[in-house]
Amino acid sequence: MAAIGRFQKGDDVFYAKVVDGELYRLRGDVFGSPSFDKKPTPFKGLRTLTPVSPTKIIAVGLNYADHARETGKPLPKEPLFWLKAPTSLIPDNGKIEIPFPGHRTDYEAELAVVIGRRVRNVTAAAAARYIFGYTAAQDVTDRTIQKAEGQWARCKSFDTFTPLGPYVETKINPHDLTIQLFQNGQLRQNSHTSQLIFNCFELVSFVSTNITLMPGDIILTGTPGGIGPITSGDRIEVRIHGLAPLVNTVK
Ligand code: MG
Repeated sequence: MAAIGRFQKGDDVFYAKVVDGELYRLRGDVFGSPSFDKKPTPFKGLRTLTPVSPTKIIAVGLNYADHARETGKPLPKEPLFWLKAPTSLIPDNGKIEIPFPGHRTDYEAELAVVIGRRVRNVTAAAAARYIFGYTAAQDVTDRTIQKAEGQWARCKSFDTFTPLGPYVETKINPHDLTIQLFQNGQLRQNSHTSQLIFNCFELVSFVSTNITLMPGDIILTGTPGGIGPITSGDRIEVRIHGLAPLVNTVK
């Protein structure tokens, strides 16, 4: 497989492989051993959905040294994670809605790991076998609430606070990717996944020793330095090398 997306036309929701701008519809279980149509399906009239519908979203904090520095917090000795509500997901081209216009609300570009098989207590060395692929994400955050409450569930779980997609790339080295965020065309975040403090395999391992991960579950691997506020009308683009760009606007 390669780039896998999820699409909708009317009541018909389906997965497809995306190759050179053409869609090849997937038959069978996306997490099993699916086959693909030989003839492409026209893109016209299709909505692009989030590529998966997870039972949970695990988000990891302070996983790039420069971001930990800008928050003034020490580096965690173990991965620091919390849960984001799956109802916070929006697809590529979806609109981010700011719930409290008087608060500071920030973009955060992140590489997302997509789980492919049920996994519990796996070692980092064996974790890759349980990963379906990788996609782009944002971990939008109400910074005002985060500061006031000192815990991270509410400030990151508002509807529309997790843009994800557009596609899952199943054949990629997750630790050799540039990761960038552009706000209205201006480069705001610019890093590389080799700078992750805990890499994708270590994160899957650590999370799986605490919580069982299911096919389609998401781990957001943390944001690099350069975080900043969003305002209505912004166009936010996450570009990760080898992945299709994730573009969202702010309502
Ligand atoms: Mg984050």
